[in-house]
Amino acid sequence: QLFNQIQEAKGNIRVFCRCRPLNKEEILSGYATVVDFNAAKDGDLGILTGGSTKKLYKFDRVYTPKDDQVDVFEDASPMVTSVLDGYNVCIFAYGQTGTGKTFTMEGTELNRGVNYRTLEQLFKVAEERKDTYTYKISVSVLEVYNEQIRDLLATSSTSKKLEIRQASEGAHHVPGIVEARVENIKEVWDVLQAGSNARAVGSNNINEHSSRSHCLLCIVVRAKNEINGECTQSKLWLVDLAGSERLAKTEAQGDRLKEAQNINRSLSALGDVISALASKSSHIPYRNSKLTHLLQDSLGGDSKTLMFVQISPSMQDVGETVSSLNFATRVR
Ligand code: ADP
Ligand code: MG
Repeated sequence: QLFNQIQEAKGNIRVFCRCRPLNKEEILSGYATVVDFNAAKDGDLGILTGGSTKKLYKFDRVYTPKDDQVDVFEDASPMVTSVLDGYNVCIFAYGQTGTGKTFTMEGTELNRGVNYRTLEQLFKVAEERKDTYTYKISVSVLEVYNEQIRDLLATSSTSKKLEIRQASEGAHHVPGIVEARVENIKEVWDVLQAGSNARAVGSNNINEHSSRSHCLLCIVVRAKNEINGECTQSKLWLVDLAGSERLAKTEAQGDRLKEAQNINRSLSALGDVISALASKSSHIPYRNSKLTHLLQDSLGGDSKTLMFVQISPSMQDVGETVSSLNFATRVR
C-alpha cells in the first residue's frame, strides 16, 4: 500500500544499485575499493575516480557487499506482488560482466536470487488470496543473442525462428514458445535450472556465452476473481542482461565485434526507452531492438520497472563502474 503511494508519487521506474564484494584475486592483488557507502542508507553512493575526486550518485536503494539476497528481495517484493493485482512488471539487472547480475537474478542453490524468490512470493500471496482469486502461473525462459530469440525450454532442437507478434488486444507474445505451467514452488527450481542449462547448449564456453546474451524469464499470471468472475492477465519479466562492458580494441573483429555491436545496440535501445518513459516523451522507441520489443508490455503505461545496476568495488573496474552508474542515472 505504502509502496504503491510512493510509486505513484515518484513515477514507475525504480533504480537499485548493488555492489559485489571484492573477490579473492582482487584482495590478493591489493586492489583498493573505490566505492564510498557512507550514505548508502539514504540511497547515496560515492565513487572515487582518482586523486581526491569523488562522484556522487543517488538511487532508490544502495546495497553494500554485506547485504544479502534476503535484503535485496525484501525491497523488490512489493513490486512483485503487484503482478497479482494486475500490473505488468519488469525487473532487470544491468552491469559489467562479473558484477553479480546472475547472482542477483538467478543466485545459487544455497543463495537463491530474485527469480526464485519472486515465484515463491507469488505462490505465497496467491495462497493467502485463494478465497477470492484463482491464479494460474506459467513460466517461459528465453535468450536473446545477436538479435535472435531462442526458447530455452523448447525440448526439440529444431532452430525455428521465433518472432514477436502483437495480438488484437495489444499484448505482445512469441508464438510457439513453451509456457511451462507451474503449480507450486517445488516445480520452479527445476524449470529455472532447465532454462539455465539450455544456455550452455551449442556454446563452447557457457560463462562467455551468457555474458553476451540476454536471459529473460517471463512469468504470466492469469487471475480470476471468483466473486465477480472477472479475468485478467499480467506479465512479469525478470531479465539478466548481457554484460555492458565495452569491447577491448584487440577483440574488435569478426564474430566478437558483431556480438558486441548487437549488445551495445540493445542496451542503448533499453536506455533510450526508459529515458523516453522517464521524460514522458510522446514517442517510445520500443522497436529498435528485440529486447525492448519483447519487454514492451512491461515497460511504460502503468507498468512498474525496477533496474538493478550492478557494480564492482575494485579500482581496476572504475571506468566501467562510472559508465554503468551514468547509464542508471540517465534512466532515473
Ligand atoms: P555477472 O552475471 O554480472 O557476470 P556473476 O553473478 O556471475 O556476475 O558474479 C560474479 C561472481 O561474483 C560470482 O562468483 C558470484 O557468485 C560473485 N558475486 C556476485 N555478487 C555477489 C554478492 N553480492 N555476494 C557474494 N558473491 C557475489
Ligand atoms: Mg552472468
